[in-house]
Amino acid sequence: MRFTLFTILAIFIASSVSFAQKSFHKNKVIAHRGAWKAQSHPQNSIASLKEAVKLGCEGSEFDVWMTSDGVLVVNHDADFEGMEIETSTYEELLSKNHENGEKISTVEEYLKAGKKQKGTKLIFEIKPSKISVKRSQEVAEKSVMAVKKMKAEKWVDYITFSYEGGLKVIELAPNANVAYLTGNKTPAELKEAGFFGFDYNINLLKENPHWIKEAQALGLTVNAWTVNKEEDLRWLLDQNPDFVTTDEPELLLKLIEERQ
Ligand code: MG
Repeated sequence: MRFTLFTILAIFIASSVSFAQKSFHKNKVIAHRGAWKAQSHPQNSIASLKEAVKLGCEGSEFDVWMTSDGVLVVNHDADFEGMEIETSTYEELLSKNHENGEKISTVEEYLKAGKKQKGTKLIFEIKPSKISVKRSQEVAEKSVMAVKKMKAEKWVDYITFSYEGGLKVIELAPNANVAYLTGNKTPAELKEAGFFGFDYNINLLKENPHWIKEAQALGLTVNAWTVNKEEDLRWLLDQNPDFVTTDEPELLLKLIEERQ
């Protein structure tokens, strides 16, 4: 009897650990700031996340800043509707809204919304602080804590332009997937530092296409931003990347479908 209970428990734990990874869509499509363009949703809004989920994207990307009072919030620009995020309190930011009436999401609210489904990964961009490298590392540390608190580890891959911030995530969450955005490190350097992959500008990859094969030979993943032109999407798909980050997820899904 004890053995049976133990077995059931072991199976339950094993299945709860692996469900999310298995259930995510495998179509390479990462909606950049959510899927906002075609339906005119605000970028980085919960509505744009839900649209990416509805489309069946493999991932939905979003950007994270920290307010002056230490709250992580989701927004692309350094300001939200004209208010500088890093020098405003969270309370102050609540005086403004997205165009669709949503208020700025905290990371916890965003992760909570993203966890309601199991098909689309949440691609968490840690924005480098304009104040200091130390603050970028603090944002990275708080981001890892928030993901842990929300039990969202299985949904989240991290990306960042802050090399130091990326290293901080790797240090605090060694099992997390962290990709680097800036484009000033070779695949070998990223591998050595413990990154999961690179997510580089499409024009940089067109200048250095050998990096794609080099990275994949090292076991790193390849992603590119922000690939919107059809000719660029087709070129990149020919290189067999792991992911493609785009403002045009509908078009990319169609191009991928055509190749199957
Ligand atoms: Mg971003």
